Amino acid sequence: MFTAQQLIERNKQSQPADFIDQAQLQSLVDSAAEPSASQLEKLMAKAEKAKGLSTEEVASLLAVEDPDKLDLLFATARKVKEKIYGKRIVLFAPLYLSNYCVNSCAYCAFHRGNKRLQRKRLSLDEVAQQVKILERMGHKRLAVEAGEDPENCPLDYVLDVIQTIYSTTDGNGSIRRVNVNIAATTVEEYRKLHEAGIGTYILFQETYHRPTYERVHPAGPKSLYDWHTTAMDRAMEGGCGDVGLGVLFGLYDYRFEVLALLAHNQHLEEKYGVGCHTISVPRIRPAQSVDLSRVVRYPVSEDEFRKIVAILRLAVPYTGLILSTRERPALRDELLSLGISQVSAASSTGVGGYEEKKEAECETAQFLPDDTRSVDQVLASICSEGYLPSYCTACYRQGRTGEHFMDLAKDGEIQTFCQPNAILTFKEYLLDYAPPSLVELGEETIARQLEGIPNQQLREETKRRLLQLEQGERDLFF
Ligand code: SF4
Ligand code: SF4
Repeated sequence: MFTAQQLIERNKQSQPADFIDQAQLQSLVDSAAEPSASQLEKLMAKAEKAKGLSTEEVASLLAVEDPDKLDLLFATARKVKEKIYGKRIVLFAPLYLSNYCVNSCAYCAFHRGNKRLQRKRLSLDEVAQQVKILERMGHKRLAVEAGEDPENCPLDYVLDVIQTIYSTTDGNGSIRRVNVNIAATTVEEYRKLHEAGIGTYILFQETYHRPTYERVHPAGPKSLYDWHTTAMDRAMEGGCGDVGLGVLFGLYDYRFEVLALLAHNQHLEEKYGVGCHTISVPRIRPAQSVDLSRVVRYPVSEDEFRKIVAILRLAVPYTGLILSTRERPALRDELLSLGISQVSAASSTGVGGYEEKKEAECETAQFLPDDTRSVDQVLASICSEGYLPSYCTACYRQGRTGEHFMDLAKDGEIQTFCQPNAILTFKEYLLDYAPPSLVELGEETIARQLEGIPNQQLREETKRRLLQLEQGERDLFF
């Protein structure tokens, strides 16, 4: 087992992250001019084809300030979102395993200098208890989260947790996809995660701007920019074909961060034949022992945040965009139309936070969520906005991952599966977990979305499977 100091020595051996060209990105940001009305119309005509945009095009969109131009940008993002994703919104929940951490990230309550935080790691029994609670909430897809600590949270423990999660059931409830968000590691350890059957390996870059990265990560193994930024290369080499990127908005200029995210994605595409599977867009939230006035030097307003989501949707139409409960409910609902395709619901950011008694949460939490609605409330709101909740995990279980997934996604073929799978998995939720007040709204949603399946044969087969679910079968997917 490594000590934290040995990890730092190991991490210094990293390849350079030269695919993030700091000077070039900064000069793109500094030189980008707001496009004229006619330039924007041309750009939007191209974006509407859902083939993505170049870095220069994205730089000019990031410079848009004029309200009428923003309206056109948002309208185009809505069209592309609808074209690629239809009405489905995928649900997931985070599961925090351990808040021990040897790093010193200035924005996170788990930082090693936080003496007030109650440190805790779940035992495997506690993991099973938490999973059963999550299953009773209807969840099928988890994102496992843990601080970095080679002694208190080694990889073998994470592997045991993954096995525990997949083998823990509660009535009809089971977790069908475990995504993993743990510290950057080696190719060998990524290989073990892949072999354990993880879905997406998620690692937020936090900031791509090297001086800012070094300022907010003053010590610990994560302090080495190159090691952290090249993590996805090692993950890909270890067999993790689905990787999730993310930036913590508020640390540095959002325009630089968006361009760098796209440069990172392009690097993965060029080197491994597949870009990132998802992009997360967290904004910094208040957290215990975190002085936001020192950390947030580039606050991102809600208007800027809407623009970021819309531009990412146009730039990488086939990449899932994930929104957590960091945002307030009304804004979360609004962002569904602009590009968000996955949301968490009723999240706890504490270790053991899904206990019935919630007070443990604030003593162990990473940050404070702004959306504290129950799963039923979130689902009702998704349905009321005209969307279709989905608990689908079919691609990963059908082997449609990595490059194979992206080929299907870019051809638009994946859509064929998404809509019926969303209907079937939401029906399971209605049968097993929903209160009567949600059942009516949910059934109306399903009836409407069923008629929206263009292929008659597939529509009829979906109806047949809905009957099978009513008769007690579960886990039916295409
Ligand atoms: Fe540790 Fe991650 Fe928090 Fe940094 S962000 S202090 S690495 S848990
Ligand atoms: Fe996601 Fe695949 Fe299910 Fe579509 S069919 S929702 S892409 S897992």
